[in-house]
Amino acid sequence: LHGKYDQDNIFAKMLRGEMPCVKVFEDDVALAFMDIFPQTTGHTLVIPKDVKARNFLELKPKKIGPYMERVQTVAKAVEKALEPDGLRILQFNGAPAGQTVYHLHFHILPIMEGQTGRP
Ligand code: 5GP
Repeated sequence: LHGKYDQDNIFAKMLRGEMPCVKVFEDDVALAFMDIFPQTTGHTLVIPKDVKARNFLELKPKKIGPYMERVQTVAKAVEKALEPDGLRILQFNGAPAGQTVYHLHFHILPIMEGQTGRP
């Protein structure tokens, strides 16, 4: 679950502007963008800025409040834009749990008609 934060992970590159992404929200605390392999229509990721947290366990407690506010802001924006029937919010810690990118991120998965949002 723990290890050294790799500054060259793909989300860190997005934050530095070295890797393109389709941004849907950005401020001083967080960036949200469309997932490149969407599991449901509108699959969005929200990542914190200025942290070296590989996962949620490594996020400094004082950073949790501001970051989770942005997760909710983006979830509400997705709700307004897509009017899904449901919304799943997911977060994975460690490869055995399904994590593949090692910069903390929350998944926002709109559940549209006929979709389950489950793998
Ligand atoms: P994890 O499995 O680590 O929780 O989720 C990583 C997510 O990042 C996956 O849903 C994957 O599709 C997404 N992802 C991986 N590489 C890229 C990329 O280069 N661009 C974007 N927009 N998403 C990516």
